[in-house]
Amino acid sequence: MTRVYNFSAGPAVLPEPVLERARDEMLEWNGTGMSVMEMTHRGKAFVSIAERAEQDLRDLMQVPDHYRVLFLQGGASAQFAAIPMNLLGERRRVDYVNTGAWSKKAIAEARKYAEVNVVASSEADHFTTIPPFETWQRDPQAAYLHYTPNETIGGLEFPWIPESSGMPLVADMSSTILSRPVDVSRFGLIYAGAQKNIGPAGLTVVIVRDDLIGHAMPQVPSVLDYRVQAEAGSMSNTPPTYAWYLAGLVFQWLKAQGGLEAMEQINRRKAQKLYNAIDNSAFYSNPVEPVSRSLMNVPFTLADPELDGIFLKEAEQAGLTNLKGHRSVGGMRASLYNAMPETGVDALVEFMADFEQRKA
Ligand SMILES: *Cc1c(COP(=O)(O)O)cnc(C)c1O
Repeated sequence: MTRVYNFSAGPAVLPEPVLERARDEMLEWNGTGMSVMEMTHRGKAFVSIAERAEQDLRDLMQVPDHYRVLFLQGGASAQFAAIPMNLLGERRRVDYVNTGAWSKKAIAEARKYAEVNVVASSEADHFTTIPPFETWQRDPQAAYLHYTPNETIGGLEFPWIPESSGMPLVADMSSTILSRPVDVSRFGLIYAGAQKNIGPAGLTVVIVRDDLIGHAMPQVPSVLDYRVQAEAGSMSNTPPTYAWYLAGLVFQWLKAQGGLEAMEQINRRKAQKLYNAIDNSAFYSNPVEPVSRSLMNVPFTLADPELDGIFLKEAEQAGLTNLKGHRSVGGMRASLYNAMPETGVDALVEFMADFEQRKA
């Protein structure tokens, strides 16, 4: 068996010890005589798995007691709709920051339910900058302020948390959650599709403050109603049980690594190695302003785009896969989620130097 270094943006690499543990427990979990996949979600065994996963996530992120943690389906994209449907309440308008492709998708979906005020946009800069906070045109009547802390496609990450001055702050953390510590109390709601930095696809984590629950519009589908799901322990219908279990294994692995402070150090080191390699070369480049470069998703281009195909082919032969950039951006993108070992980044940097020497 040969495992590659998988730089996919998502679904993405998982920690090898997690996959080994899942393999060992595949046919029967903890004396139950069955796989986790075969268990009823209402039984003692699965409920113990679910509760442990939630507790471990709460420990890792230091989630305060007055927040619910929901384990839902539908991906971050379902939350693009669920958020306005649940949080609009009596208001009509919502504030969104536009820093890239995922911001735009969130905005387009919210427009179906609310009047969207785009408080700031870096589209004119091709999403290579974060609009300075002083320039944001906030609407004091907005129900909430939404932003995307890490743009997975553009590789643009906020180095700061916006000061929402009492308005609920909503964050799509799909590609940055668990990569570093974050002060949850600054947010009204945090959501993330699992398939980047949490676990397999099919699970969506929502962390929502108690006072924001219970104001959904009457038309909201019950499975997307935070009150219904909070009261049912995320089991108003069948939850994604196996993905929830695997996410729980990832949380245990993160704790064993030393938690999010330790992950941040490792992630900074990994990203710095790759950005240094890019910046110290005239052959590779990254367009994002240095203070806002993503720790998780590193897009880069070659001086000669004609070489893209051969770069990808040779990288693949060297066991470095899924480096093709998003079709909207072109070039390359290396995603460096928690589960990407530092040796993978070293191998990529070494390959890039060798390729440059041969082709530049
Ligand atoms: C991947 C991604 C999404 C979409 O997630 P789905 O689970 O496919 O709906 C949304 N936002 C961000 C920031 C992402 O990286």
